[in-house]
Amino acid sequence: MADGDAIETRNDPVTTSEHSGIDETLKSLDPDAARPVHVMESVHLNLGFSGRTVLADVNVSLKRGSITALIGPTGSGKSTFLRTLNRMNDRVPGFTRSGEVLFDDTSLWGQGVDLLTLRRRIGMLFQRPNPFPMSIKDNVVAGVKAHRIAKGKQLDVVCERRLTEVGLWDAVKDRLNDSPFRLSGGQQQLLCLARALAVGPEVLLLDEPTSALDPVTTESIEALLKTLAPALTLIVVTHNLGQAMRVSHHTMFFYQGQLMEHGETEDLFNRPQHPDTERYVTGRMG
Ligand code: ADP
Ligand code: MG
Repeated sequence: MADGDAIETRNDPVTTSEHSGIDETLKSLDPDAARPVHVMESVHLNLGFSGRTVLADVNVSLKRGSITALIGPTGSGKSTFLRTLNRMNDRVPGFTRSGEVLFDDTSLWGQGVDLLTLRRRIGMLFQRPNPFPMSIKDNVVAGVKAHRIAKGKQLDVVCERRLTEVGLWDAVKDRLNDSPFRLSGGQQQLLCLARALAVGPEVLLLDEPTSALDPVTTESIEALLKTLAPALTLIVVTHNLGQAMRVSHHTMFFYQGQLMEHGETEDLFNRPQHPDTERYVTGRMG
């Protein structure tokens, strides 16, 4: 597997012992050079509610800087898996987990993991836009203030930069102090995306982010998501197979309590290994 090759190269003992000076220089030029190729990894992960297994033995590695689509019929566990990746299920009554999720080779549930920091590094965008009941500007910088990433005048810079990044600046620049609730649904979702991006996450989890939006806004969000990688790793639940094909590099197909198949999107859609995957991606399964 190509991913495995990449890991081998980085761990090559000759490279590290003979050229450690060069390695150090390279590391300082590219801070990602020393980091694992896979940003997140699930290992024998079992998830369930109240004694009922939702997903069994999920083993998958998510490559840094890639876009992964999670597909499968309703109830197949896509949201449960996604929400587990930033510990959103921890406090859900009846939720059970065994196995591991590693983030930068460290357990999400490891000692010393600070949940606020984890959620800053692994952000989330939901299906329904959920602006906070505060001004448009305060929405964008809410996390930035909470994490003390910037203050004072810097907040204005962050606000403009992030709203520009999501293509919302021109539409809202004259009403930054207004409520976000008069914006269209699509604009509210872009605002939530700007808010999520403002804290500088490394991974962004998106649960059907466009399923409540019109086709034009959907298209602009898809275009935007593509520009966010490889600086960010994106994991997107979608029931829109066209969207998975257009946007993602890798696809995971969940079905009947299992991760049935995982691979490059192009392969999974055109050369599915499993008959159930084929039935799903060809529209013969609901
Ligand atoms: P998907 O996102 O693929 O539609 P979900 O992950 O939402 O699927 O749900 C997977 C299964 O877990 C479903 O059977 C659902 O009823 C169950 N489930 C999800 N959330 C909860 C919860 N909070 N409590 C109990 N069961 C849940
Ligand atoms: Mg879901």
